[in-house]
Amino acid sequence: MSSSGCKLPRKAVVVGAGPVGCLAAMSLARMGWSVDIYEGRPDMRLPSSKAAAQQRSINLAISARGLAAIQAIDPAAADRFLSTVIPMRGRMIHDAQGHQQSQPYDRDGQGINSIGRAYLNEDLLGEALAVPGIRVFFQHKVVTVDFDRKTMNVRDVEGGKDVNVSFDFCVGADGSYSIIRRQLMRVVRMDYQQEYIPHDYLELKMPAGPPTEPGGDPTFLLDPNHLHIWPRHTFMLIALPNKDKTFTCTVFAPTAEFDRLNSDEAILRWFQANFPDALPLIGQEALLADFHRNPRSALMSIKAKPYHYKDRAVILGDSAHAMVPFYGQGLNCGLEDVRVLDILLRDAGVDPTAQTPDGQEDPQLAHALSTYSATRHEDLVAACELAMDNYVEMRHSVTTLGYRFRKALDNLLYSLNRKHVTAKDVTAPLLDKPFINSPSGWLPLYTMVTFRPDISYSTARRRFLRQSQILETTAWLSAGVAVGMGIAGVTLLRRLYARA
Ligand SMILES: Cc1cc2nc3c(=O)[nH]c(=O)nc-3n(C[C@H](O)[C@H](O)[C@H](O)COP(=O)(O)OP(=O)(O)OC[C@H]3O[C@@H](n4cnc5c(N)ncnc54)[C@H](O)[C@@H]3O)c2cc1C
Repeated sequence: MSSSGCKLPRKAVVVGAGPVGCLAAMSLARMGWSVDIYEGRPDMRLPSSKAAAQQRSINLAISARGLAAIQAIDPAAADRFLSTVIPMRGRMIHDAQGHQQSQPYDRDGQGINSIGRAYLNEDLLGEALAVPGIRVFFQHKVVTVDFDRKTMNVRDVEGGKDVNVSFDFCVGADGSYSIIRRQLMRVVRMDYQQEYIPHDYLELKMPAGPPTEPGGDPTFLLDPNHLHIWPRHTFMLIALPNKDKTFTCTVFAPTAEFDRLNSDEAILRWFQANFPDALPLIGQEALLADFHRNPRSALMSIKAKPYHYKDRAVILGDSAHAMVPFYGQGLNCGLEDVRVLDILLRDAGVDPTAQTPDGQEDPQLAHALSTYSATRHEDLVAACELAMDNYVEMRHSVTTLGYRFRKALDNLLYSLNRKHVTAKDVTAPLLDKPFINSPSGWLPLYTMVTFRPDISYSTARRRFLRQSQILETTAWLSAGVAVGMGIAGVTLLRRLYARA
């Protein structure tokens, strides 16, 4: 309590100023916590940081879940954010001959949104810093945490010294190599699984095209309202549009495949054979320069449980559930973590000014965090598994006849579902409820995951598995009926022929 008698806010420390950390800080500060963010890297708004980000400018697809989460924490920020994205309404499949085929994501024209990672992060950081009660310390890397004493040791990288920071509540949003997760493992019996997939990824830049008239604006070399995919069974290339009319392309391939590309000739030959229409758009010189300069990175999936410790720490975003990027859900899921936790903290009546005597726990906060671990785990595991399943779909299944038949059947059954529900219809109830979880009628998996933030990942996956069995049975029955009719037809023809 302050000398004037008004209660002082408790202190939350958020580790990591990535998108999830920024949104978590906004959520806590709006509830009344005093929030300090510690970020190991320099300020991303500095020109030197921007130059470094140019080297690795992964762009992201943000969809309804991520948007619903930002909307729940700060509706005005969500509106500002939407003005900076490029909508993508479907996949554009490029075959080996360079033909393109559009596959819309949704019958109601809903899509996903492309945004530069650095752009998104800067945007959310700006929003966070505009909220009273939030401070950020760049180049401050958390090294160790003593959760029982509620203190952490932070390295001030610029000043070259260590500082001791105390906290009431610690939120780890420090990415897939999280120090907070590792420190939690010392005090929590955490089940933990980390899996690398045998594929790496490498980024390439497709430049903007020339203006259509002298002095005009540059143009896109491909349709900007699609996510472009060149599926080649064991590997693939994808391209997402940027605001400056360029595309960020990413090659995903097995490590052994990349290893074979050990000379300029081999790289150009491989590109010419597999992505003949992309090569001239990227340009041979630019392709080789990117191949030599840009890092090849590994992809992994992380599952953990629980995500919290007593009333004082929780991990969110990639630190709790890094996933392979093939469903475009990693960030969406991390932002959703913040929305779900925000609701649980409010539901439990956590008071950001409540002071607990030394050694005692805040029962409301402890309850909210244990409910978070207990209820969120199933969804986070489902999200990781959906992402893994989608890798096969993106690089291989989309090219097969069986897939297209099942997809057509899936869409046909969906069209019989008379109730059209779009992401906009379900966003308002999500301000107070984690999920609604009672979807009706037939819903394709992609629709549930991407456009229905009211349906949890685990419900979507369970429902999909049930629907898949029905599709499988229907496909076999149709095949059986077709074969039966064929046999009957041939028999009839033979009889007629014999009589003639
Ligand atoms: C190739 C690729 C494509 C992707 N595409 C998509 C997509 O289309 N859609 C989607 O939703 N997701 C996508 N993702 C996933 C998405 O990038 C992540 O899920 C998201 O960035 C996680 O955000 P975060 O805030 O949890 O972690 P991060 O963005 O990793 O931020 C963590 C922050 O913590 C800081 N930090 C780390 N350690 C410390 C420390 N000790 N002390 C202080 N600070 C620290 C880091 O510097 C960093 O700023 C993709 C991922 C990859 C690899």
